[in-house]
Amino acid sequence: MKGLDYTKPLSLYIHVPFCSRKCDYCAFYSLPLSAVDRSWIEKYVSIILKEVDALNRDYGKAYRTIFIGGGNPGILGYWNIRRILEKAEENGMPAEVTVEMNPENISEEIYHLFDIITRISVGVQSMDDSVLQSLGRNARRRDNLRALSILSSSPFRWNADIITAVPGESFERTLADIDEVVSFSPGHISFYCLSFEEGTPLIEREVPVGEDDEIEFLSRGWERLRSYGYEHYEVSNFAKPGERCIHNQVYWNLGQYVGFGPSAESSIGYENVISMRENENLVAYLSSPALTCTPLTGEEAEEEYLLSSLRTKDGINKIEYSARFGRDFDSVYSDAVSRLDRDTYISTPLTFSITEKGFMVLDRIILALAMDL
Ligand code: SF4
Repeated sequence: MKGLDYTKPLSLYIHVPFCSRKCDYCAFYSLPLSAVDRSWIEKYVSIILKEVDALNRDYGKAYRTIFIGGGNPGILGYWNIRRILEKAEENGMPAEVTVEMNPENISEEIYHLFDIITRISVGVQSMDDSVLQSLGRNARRRDNLRALSILSSSPFRWNADIITAVPGESFERTLADIDEVVSFSPGHISFYCLSFEEGTPLIEREVPVGEDDEIEFLSRGWERLRSYGYEHYEVSNFAKPGERCIHNQVYWNLGQYVGFGPSAESSIGYENVISMRENENLVAYLSSPALTCTPLTGEEAEEEYLLSSLRTKDGINKIEYSARFGRDFDSVYSDAVSRLDRDTYISTPLTFSITEKGFMVLDRIILALAMDL
């Protein structure tokens, strides 16, 4: 693959563009099954197998991580997930292999995938039926309870997603969601605010909670998660020791990853970064999958790196930064940093990172730094 740095690790992402139905808040590219001809699923799987096979032969080594996301990969069925992963693992077992699943698609059968999967991510979102209903989720509380119980007795590492700041939801409701999910002992929790995306039914129907309330939902939730021993290692992600998601850390460090499936994004190269994107639309993808390549300028790559690495507790490694972009971080950003509130960041000779307080105003910090690029 032109532009791939073969001396660096490579991760693989596979986007599954099918969902049982569309949730009211969702802007990811996926089609509800009611809009899908069933033959498309088999065709999609065979194209993915071909794309992965070509990349396997080109790269020639085990991937660092694999992530099958969507959409809802559970729609493919365990048999197809096995076919895809057996192909993707032909060059060796990655350090981490995650599959996203919706609660209603998780059954004990999943235990049989333990030879090819190391980690499951389940979209719980809430344990309250009225919140799930207002989000337009397919699953209900009983589905979430069943999935959590199966995962808690499974050999997998696993993550649960929880959404907060849903209009009409109380602070106590969010804390009760955290308490109940934590009682099943996930190693990792993604905890994030409901976002209002253009073109979704949600934005037509509801008004987002105010900024002060959003801060309250987050700060109370963060505090509760920390009290259970989860490390807040990225703005929206919490992990028990040793349970950080390796695949997402590849994104946040602007590592190399190739994405297959409609709308999937890729980023390859180290000093010269190339961003790639698959066809947005499933029908176009099925007739001709094609990665569109866009080489990033040095400035664009640096901005990407800033945007993503500042989301993490570890922040920016200044040695890595200067090796990659040929500039000294302190010289470039000292003016912008001097204008930030002192309790929103930590700067050492080796790293620059954002504090918990800074995470609350992360967009403003990134904007302030990006202006000095
Ligand atoms: S299941 Fe996930 S990808 Fe599918 S519509 Fe709901 S939020 Fe979107």
